[in-house]
Amino acid sequence: MDLPFGTQTPELDVLIVGAGLSGLASALKILSMESTLKVRIIEASGVLGGQLGQNNTRLVDAAQQDMLSFLTLIQLSPRRRRYDNGRMRRCWDLDRGLTALPAKFELGRYIEMLDLRMSKFRSKRFNLRERVSNMDQHIRHHLFFNKSRNFMLNLVELVCGVPANEVDYDVFMSVCSSCGGLKTLIDFYFTYPSSFYEVPTQMLIENILEHMQFTKIMLNCRAVKVEHFKNYAQVTDNLGNSHTAQAVILAIPWNKVQKLEFEPRIPRAFLPPMATKAGKNLTRRLISQFQFRYAKSFWSDLGYSGNFLSSQPLVSGHECRMSTFCGYMLHSQKDQDEVLEEVMDLLASHFGEEMREPLECQCSTDELNEALHKPQTKPWHRVIWSSSSAVGTSYRSLMGGAVQSGFRAAVNALFVVRPQVVSWKDMLDERPKNPQEGVRTSGRIRGLLSRLNLYNVTFYSLFVLGLIWLLNFGYARSSS
Ligand SMILES: Cc1cc2nc3c(=O)[nH]c(=O)nc-3n(C[C@H](O)[C@H](O)[C@H](O)COP(=O)(O)OP(=O)(O)OC[C@H]3O[C@@H](n4cnc5c(N)ncnc54)[C@H](O)[C@@H]3O)c2cc1C
Repeated sequence: MDLPFGTQTPELDVLIVGAGLSGLASALKILSMESTLKVRIIEASGVLGGQLGQNNTRLVDAAQQDMLSFLTLIQLSPRRRRYDNGRMRRCWDLDRGLTALPAKFELGRYIEMLDLRMSKFRSKRFNLRERVSNMDQHIRHHLFFNKSRNFMLNLVELVCGVPANEVDYDVFMSVCSSCGGLKTLIDFYFTYPSSFYEVPTQMLIENILEHMQFTKIMLNCRAVKVEHFKNYAQVTDNLGNSHTAQAVILAIPWNKVQKLEFEPRIPRAFLPPMATKAGKNLTRRLISQFQFRYAKSFWSDLGYSGNFLSSQPLVSGHECRMSTFCGYMLHSQKDQDEVLEEVMDLLASHFGEEMREPLECQCSTDELNEALHKPQTKPWHRVIWSSSSAVGTSYRSLMGGAVQSGFRAAVNALFVVRPQVVSWKDMLDERPKNPQEGVRTSGRIRGLLSRLNLYNVTFYSLFVLGLIWLLNFGYARSSS
């Protein structure tokens, strides 16, 4: 597309829209490679960190190498979750009632099945055997009990950002396979194993800021319009101010990018490749993250580890620091005012009335990031996308994905602004990673083995024996 020439001289080198983890990681990477650049971050809300929330605790597994090396870069050493929960009970509604055992059994089988198929999953080339239009149908078709169905429906909504009836089967498989697999996601959102590392989000943000002290961050400044000229890009915020920069990084999830006005419009090639129904969803669901501090861990006294899960509505929580309980609830806009009350009621009914009176209470609400779309990872001249929900990261929808996509956007921006500081190694390091690369061979063998059963093994054996008999017979006749 031929872009118009702008008449202004850009005031900034790089403008970053969104101060979530991916935006902050981008800024840090840019400044670590070229500290003389003029970088500005604009953030719609009044706080930094986006989905990280304030004073929360996030978990990272040892496989998220990019995230762990990022933590080393900002001199933050994560601790292993020290709670030895092995001997304590979890508090899940899935474990209660007469149908608990069969429901858990069918759920386990279903998750195994999806995970096995996921290792063979290749978007576009995936040959969908079961023609189901969406995940809601797939779940109802495969799972009989309401408990197991609710568990899966919640998980799909949490991972994809929209209800399961708007998520296609192969899109879900594609999203999960780039998130590290279904079991990893269940661990991150529901199970919180003690093998994970804990990252205090407040410390994470503070350490990042320490490394970029001279960067201007404007809070309560929402980008509304992006104008793309040949020689610079211009972003207009909600207060009517214009920010001109040589390159703009949009470090916001794709559902929020869609709310921006683009001039000229984003070329078709950069739009999500699939037709999606997600935009039609008018009642978007919100996620409220809560944290309660108590005088002591009331749940431990009852023999519970603190790991809590209720499926309707989805409330998940865990002990994140000594006598501190944190978690989240998925809800609609109209239930916003009753979130804390509902969570307290649930916790009180399981862990005792003391749960209603925390010493300190925090709650923040956000729109769920939508990972359904496949935003382009390559830049549109001077406009570069970055978000944890972007494709091409090994840990999409998780912190590792945010850091990876932030770094990649930073390298792309530097390539526009200061190409001389970008080496081949930087380009190679930040190229979109294919999460399937490592599992291709083992996936093929496992796929082949998984197809073997009594019938086809008998059939193949008879076929080989018949062939040997025929060859023998032919040989005997020709020699007589
Ligand atoms: C409840 C919950 C628990 C999680 N637990 C874990 C975990 O244990 N481990 C893990 O690895 N990951 C976890 N994640 C995922 C992880 O927190 C996110 O993937 C990551 O924080 C997303 O970062 P981001 O920068 O891509 O997006 P965001 O955090 O959403 O940042 C986007 C920012 O852009 C701002 N913005 C939006 N629109 C505009 C605009 N127009 N103008 C200016 N600014 C704008 C927003 O206000 C926001 O601050 C969890 C997520 C949730 C919701």
